[in-house]
Amino acid sequence: MIYPDFAQELEKIDARGLRRHMRVFESPQQPRAVVDGREIRLFASNSYLGLSNHPSVLEAAQNALARYGSGSGGSRLTTGTYTPHVELETEIADFKGTEAALVLSSGFLTNSTVITAITDPTWTVFCDKLNHASIIDGCRHSGARFVPYAHADMSDLEKKVRQKMGGKGLIVTDGVFSMDGDIAPLPAIVDIAARYGLMTMVDDAHAAGVLGATGAGTSEYYQVKGKVDIEMGTLSKAFAAEGGYIASSRALIDFLIHRARGFIFSTAMAPHTAAAALAAIRICRAEPGIRRHLLELSRSFAAQIAQTGFTTSRGETPILPVLVKTPENAVHLSRALWDEGFFVPAIRPPTVKESRLRFSLMASHTHKDCEDAALALARAAGKAGIRPEALHD
Ligand SMILES: *Cc1c(COP(=O)(O)O)cnc(C)c1O
Repeated sequence: MIYPDFAQELEKIDARGLRRHMRVFESPQQPRAVVDGREIRLFASNSYLGLSNHPSVLEAAQNALARYGSGSGGSRLTTGTYTPHVELETEIADFKGTEAALVLSSGFLTNSTVITAITDPTWTVFCDKLNHASIIDGCRHSGARFVPYAHADMSDLEKKVRQKMGGKGLIVTDGVFSMDGDIAPLPAIVDIAARYGLMTMVDDAHAAGVLGATGAGTSEYYQVKGKVDIEMGTLSKAFAAEGGYIASSRALIDFLIHRARGFIFSTAMAPHTAAAALAAIRICRAEPGIRRHLLELSRSFAAQIAQTGFTTSRGETPILPVLVKTPENAVHLSRALWDEGFFVPAIRPPTVKESRLRFSLMASHTHKDCEDAALALARAAGKAGIRPEALHD
């Protein structure tokens, strides 16, 4: 029995122009990728450091695959902990400057299970409105009192903390926001937390490997390393593998090993995935030039997009949104760019409130790639009949 509501829901999705399709890759994430059977210039990947096919990453993964086999065979607490997991956790703790670290099988799982494990209905969680869905799911599952605050708005945060406090509390924020590419005001968050006796958590999915002198992320970028209680990150983006991690105190990590259901009851990531992530973090730490090039590209690309008349970010991170008002505009522009040979995704509700194109850069891009993309954006707008000036308020 398949209930008819599913088909009806899909019809509604279609009617609103929100139907999703999956593009199929036949190459690694690289500036010229093979997608749906054609070579396309890729401006859609979260592999920010361009390490998905780096020789040292591949070699580490291949060696681990040959040595340990393909799957981990169990959860971390049974048979699933291998040498690469332990080495990876040691490396992450050192990278992040914390006592300990714990690796889980995805970033989504990490946020949802860790927030669920540490909070309960007696807690209040203050959450930036643009935080990732996995953070919100964690709050829902724990039953904590959930208090969203206006995006990056510190006076709204402090007002809500004053109104709602009493008992234990956590302020949680993305370090770099995934669809806007802006950086959270972490020093102010740390300051409010200290004044009101709250814990802090930062999700560095898009910041680790990208921001800070050694690539350690948002707290390093602002020089508040060591002042954030829980540093969360993923191995799936800049580090070109998959998995999530928590870097924190030894006590908190040991608590999670005993209480985080997504750690206890889920099979460990494959050992070769841990080995690949470890190799990528080591490259990131040893070669700051990769990150410098990426951030230089971001700044100059933001200026080039602005010259086309569209509104984008300041280019502080490799995520560059181009705001286009309606889902239809986003879809038409993305399609016109695809026809020009560029893969730039349309991001629409419910993922974001305001429809947009989301350009993302990789360190393997060149300045020429970015110039070409900005020119293609201008041509695509012409073909789609969209005048950027008409989109401004
Ligand atoms: C991608 C992402 C996650 C989830 O990480 P995965 O490794 O993809 O499961 C969590 N938080 C943020 C902010 C993200 O962008």
